[in-house]
Amino acid sequence: MAKSIWAVAEQRDGKYRKISFEVVSEARRIADKTGADVIAVVLGAGIEGIASELGKYGADTVLVADDSALEVYTTDAYVSVLSAAIKEKNPDMVLVGASVQGKDLSARLAAAVDAGLAMDCTEIKVDGDEVIAVRPIFAGKIFSDIGFSNGIKMISIRPNVFAPEENEKAGSVEKITVSIDADALKTKVVDVQADTSGKVDLTEAEIIVSGGRGMKGPENFSIIEELADLLGATVGASRAAVDAGWRPEDDQVGQTGKVVTPNLYIACGISGAIQHLAGMGSSKNIVAVNKDEDAPIFQKADYGVVEDLFNFVPAFTEVVKKNI
Ligand code: FAD
Repeated sequence: MAKSIWAVAEQRDGKYRKISFEVVSEARRIADKTGADVIAVVLGAGIEGIASELGKYGADTVLVADDSALEVYTTDAYVSVLSAAIKEKNPDMVLVGASVQGKDLSARLAAAVDAGLAMDCTEIKVDGDEVIAVRPIFAGKIFSDIGFSNGIKMISIRPNVFAPEENEKAGSVEKITVSIDADALKTKVVDVQADTSGKVDLTEAEIIVSGGRGMKGPENFSIIEELADLLGATVGASRAAVDAGWRPEDDQVGQTGKVVTPNLYIACGISGAIQHLAGMGSSKNIVAVNKDEDAPIFQKADYGVVEDLFNFVPAFTEVVKKNI
């Protein structure tokens, strides 16, 4: 099996995103079974100082590509650096986070290095030389086993599924030589509009409180915002709520929104259409609040509350207030 497993980390403004620790930890777990080395890779500008941190999660070595052309993610700059390094060092397996950035990166990177790619996987099974990546499809109704015929095995892993685990290794830092022909890059970031709300992104949130058409109007989202604040949760929304202009697009969970995997997903006034389930069906615990006992969301929910949300949510918020 794999002699060298690469884990591509993701940082923004010099801070690792949580998915980085999940990717490195999973690479470590596979390496411990197979005797492989874990090589973490991080790209950016002015990031040498944070590189060795990945040793804490089990990286034997951390490859760093530090260059001003890598300050902000662009597909072509990142792929050009990573594909050159992969062609030179020839790892057996490459793990990437299935974040928005990782999904974009892994598709192009796999094509550039002619690797097989299994995307958005929730389990990796290794048995001798055989590697099977498990991927939920049809809104999590079916799990498909994806094998690799030959060459580099590239797998993107779904955020919040693989536990980050501290497992201190050397984390010795090596620099990757970066030679980017800036004129050859087809994309250029002209502006970055950072989210200034300070809230945890839906894709990284441990707890999400979501509202749908049953919220009846934008002003009523204040009741789930209050609950979310108390729980340290992020607010999400169904497409119906977004299409109605009640919530920003960024809040949408589902097939055409974000795929989320929190520990707790509280769905308020959401019917549970298949396109919504496609985004939140892998949440570890689902609580549905809906006044219609036949709403499809109850078939997916671990806990169902058949009640008018305008009675339940404020009452539940009061209980939470008394208990924190
Ligand atoms: P509804 O289906 O109208 O459900 C509202 C629910 O609220 C009902 O179950 C009702 O019983 C309940 N309710 C009403 N009042 C109360 C109350 N006072 N207390 C408690 N419960 C109450 N949808 C997404 O969410 N995300 C996507 O990414 C997405 N992508 C799509 C892509 C395509 C190609 C298509 C065709 C559709 C997509 N949709 C998506 C839309 C999806 O099919 C549904 O229309 C949408 O999810 C419905 O949103 P909802 O559950 O909020 O509204």
